[in-house]
Amino acid sequence: MLPYGRQSISAADIAAVTAVLQGDWLTTGPAVAAFEAAVSELAGGHRAVSCTSGTAALHIAYAALGVGPGDEVVTTPMTFVATASCAALLGARVVFADVDPDTALLDPAAVAAVTTERTKVIAAVDYAGQAADYAALQPLADAVGARTLADAAHSIGGSAGGRPVGDLADVTTMSFFPTKNLTTGEGGAVVCKDPAVGQRAHEFHFIGLVRDPARFEIVDEGPWHQEVHEYGVNYRLTDLGAALGLSQLSRLGSFKRRRAEITARYNQALGGVDGLRTPVQRAGVDPAWHLYPVRVLGGRRREIFEGMRAAGIGVQVNYIPVYWHPVFARQGYSRGLCPNAEAFYAEELSLPLYPDLTDNDVDRVIETLTRLVG
Ligand SMILES: *Cc1c(COP(=O)(O)O)cnc(C)c1O
Repeated sequence: MLPYGRQSISAADIAAVTAVLQGDWLTTGPAVAAFEAAVSELAGGHRAVSCTSGTAALHIAYAALGVGPGDEVVTTPMTFVATASCAALLGARVVFADVDPDTALLDPAAVAAVTTERTKVIAAVDYAGQAADYAALQPLADAVGARTLADAAHSIGGSAGGRPVGDLADVTTMSFFPTKNLTTGEGGAVVCKDPAVGQRAHEFHFIGLVRDPARFEIVDEGPWHQEVHEYGVNYRLTDLGAALGLSQLSRLGSFKRRRAEITARYNQALGGVDGLRTPVQRAGVDPAWHLYPVRVLGGRRREIFEGMRAAGIGVQVNYIPVYWHPVFARQGYSRGLCPNAEAFYAEELSLPLYPDLTDNDVDRVIETLTRLVG
């Protein structure tokens, strides 16, 4: 089975991880510091905190922004469940706003219709690898004293309006799961424009430990002393993962170029095919294509999905609208809430897309798909 996504591992990646195994630190050593510095540099120079997954990154981000009971978080239903569930986990009410029918990116007009004084965060998702419209979302957040969050699990390495992902929203989260644009095995990162939020993010992922003597409330304990002011968790990335991520980062540009080449090959071949609609690129965005979300028209998505799988091609569907999940549905979120997202979901099919996919593999996907829809 041709997978829909997979990691690309080089001899240099293996050497980087092996060197960590032979060294003094397995976790939170020099590789973590170097990886965080490199992610920060890529993401506009803001503080980057590495962590154990993209889901952990979202939990950390919402916690660092002070999300809690009584707050509302406005987000998109066209995402992986964690974008919404991590806010709910902290006690916030999740408010879903619909997406643009062409790009599946959060629609600022739909957001404007639901923001209130209770809105704490507007969380957009860079679906498929294109940055959402933060230039339109930021003023909506500012108007009610909220912050913007970019779930950039798909888009690391991309940019919009000449600014890199990481510099577009107040807080940006990333995932380094093997199918994403680069990997640390499991892993993620939070990038924060406000240094105070960045420090809270760091402390939350590090058990809540405060180590700066200038901030100690307990004094004169001794040189061993550290203390906790707010509850935290242990979401620390290992040096093994960080070394892999650092090595991968040096190839992010070539990964992005190859993903763009494959996307162009799909667009070229599928653009004129009856019964299909190729992805729509948002103006002003330089995407880091993570998914290739083709749309299968005429109510045939399930049939085509099953036909592709039967032919050994590992297609996916991204995503079931988040509020359809029983955990949300049971709270009264009902179908029909976001019609554009539901219509997009009904047609969406993600084709294989990863740097090591060969042109022959791509052509096999194209031939199989055009035969099935023909
Ligand atoms: C993958 C993903 C996540 C979660 O990342 P993990 O590293 O798998 O926990 C969150 N949001 C989106 C949009 C994702 O694609």
